[in-house]
Amino acid sequence: MGQLTLKDIVKRFGAIEVVKSVSLDVNEGEFIVFVGPSGCGKSTLLRMIAGLEHTTSGDIVIDGKRVNDLAPVKRGIAMVFQSYALYPHMSVFENIAFPLRVEKAPEASIREKVEAAAKILHLDQRLEQKPGMLSGGQRQRVAIGRAIVREPEIFLFDEPLSNLDAALRADMRIELTRLHKQLGATMIYVTHDQVEAMTMADRIVVLHAGYISQVGPPLELYHKPQNTFVAGFIGNPR
Ligand code: ADP
Ligand code: MG
Repeated sequence: MGQLTLKDIVKRFGAIEVVKSVSLDVNEGEFIVFVGPSGCGKSTLLRMIAGLEHTTSGDIVIDGKRVNDLAPVKRGIAMVFQSYALYPHMSVFENIAFPLRVEKAPEASIREKVEAAAKILHLDQRLEQKPGMLSGGQRQRVAIGRAIVREPEIFLFDEPLSNLDAALRADMRIELTRLHKQLGATMIYVTHDQVEAMTMADRIVVLHAGYISQVGPPLELYHKPQNTFVAGFIGNPR
């Protein structure tokens, strides 16, 4: 579970084609990183996978089923954003529990899932606090907790660390890699940070102006960039 196929995905906003026939097979449990400069279509691609944006054409297939017309909550996907708007008046517990409350899950199951997620994210001592008491990294973990309790097959991360300082980003990279191993879920992670891409990805997808420039494991892209764009972005500039 958690296999994703993108087939000839195109997205136009008016006359402007921002995603140009993107095709990609993502394996179950794989950690895929989308990299590329600002404006190349990374967020738009994620939003289409999540169902927050329609495709102009093409198929999005999850575990063999075309999901283009399926509502976001029915896709088995959870998305974590850069700006992780938490509810300031609610406790950490209630912030994490929020999607389960919306689903009207039973109280006992809510407690069990929130506590399990909090443990994974080292937030178990923070459950009664308000977000205002937490550091930036802890707040981002609360946002990730909110995704975990939905038990998605596929996690989408849109530049989740870009609001954090460098030291915290380094810690969170390690945390997220650990989380990926622990959950075994498919993860698609968007960043414009080469270090994140090189250290976290099973495979990197380099996007350039709406199309895929190259896909492969980090070291392959580093040592054998197929073109000057990939070389400039992550390749070995020998
Ligand atoms: P990235 O996340 O890689 O920085 P985006 O996917 O946000 O890029 O944007 C890709 C392009 O699509 C940009 O040129 C952006 O201005 C444009 N775009 C994104 N969303 C919309 C929208 N709702 N309407 C019009 N243009 C959009
Ligand atoms: Mg973006």
